[in-house]
Amino acid sequence: MTTLINGKEIAQNLRDSIKKEIEDLKSEIGKVPGLAVVQVGNVAASSIYVKAKTKSAKEVGIDVIDHHLPEKTTQEELLKIIQSLNNQDNVNGILVQLPLPKHINEQIILDSIHPNKDADGFHPLNVGKLSIASNNNENLLIPCTPYGCLIMLKGLGVELSGKNAVVIGRSNIIGKPMAQLLLKESCTVTIAHSKTKDIQNICQKADIIVAAVGVPKMVKGNWIQKDAIVIDVGINRIEVEIEGEIKNKLVGDVNFDEAKLIASAITPVPGGVGPMTIACLLRNTTMAFKNTLK
Ligand code: NAP
Repeated sequence: MTTLINGKEIAQNLRDSIKKEIEDLKSEIGKVPGLAVVQVGNVAASSIYVKAKTKSAKEVGIDVIDHHLPEKTTQEELLKIIQSLNNQDNVNGILVQLPLPKHINEQIILDSIHPNKDADGFHPLNVGKLSIASNNNENLLIPCTPYGCLIMLKGLGVELSGKNAVVIGRSNIIGKPMAQLLLKESCTVTIAHSKTKDIQNICQKADIIVAAVGVPKMVKGNWIQKDAIVIDVGINRIEVEIEGEIKNKLVGDVNFDEAKLIASAITPVPGGVGPMTIACLLRNTTMAFKNTLK
């Protein structure tokens, strides 16, 4: 019997526990975490993400400091705003929604966020800490999507130590940090990417597959070992014909219909990894706040 990993429910549980923690902190010390959300320009997808993140943050009791800046904002102006947020005591987490307009260098902006306020966990210092820490230490600020995947894996109650894990994708925001997290759970980790030879054969030996590629339904049923755990990070919009009409459909990087017949546990798309990302952003902001109390 295959377990369908319910990301919506796990994310809701995480948000509920964060809400409770913030309520307790408020009654103990009279303060709540603050998250600065910075958006430059009006890319439609970014506006949707910012709205969802803001709503979720407010729901758990985080103060949101909103900075929606015009498209023509210069890099210097944005750096000044980040500098000012770095110095504000009521701001514990800073989130800069990507992508930024082309005239702004994203890495320079991400590097300018104070590492202690790095809500996305993308700052080089936090990337380094994630790499150096010997375990998945509670205080770390960890990129949200891979951390969400780890929470889902741990929630299965399966021993991760010694498992063969294959991460497909080596991006800085998902593949690489995912591999670091699994390594610290004592998995034997293989990172596959676009130049990897015979990826199917590598996947067939995996106890855990995390697919973060951006290629719709790339991982087929016959790539998966019986009873492997499959985490599908991919979010791909494809066109399908339904009753003679062409409609948009969201699919992952895994062929779900094939994989669910073989895997012991699998995340659906949508409703799997997606909801975990925002919940982990709230977790990072709360963690950054708690770190200031030490
Ligand atoms: P990315 O930066 O484009 O990285 C994709 C990775 O996949 C790269 O390392 C690339 O290899 C590898 N790759 C591409 N084609 C491949 C192939 N045919 N075989 C093997 N490897 C291949 O993407 P990303 O930002 O990591 O995102 C990955 C997916 O996750 C996307 O579908 C994205 O929409 C989704 N996503 C989901 C969430 C969520 O909350 N669920 C959040 C963010 C992103 P090279 O390095 O060799 O180019």
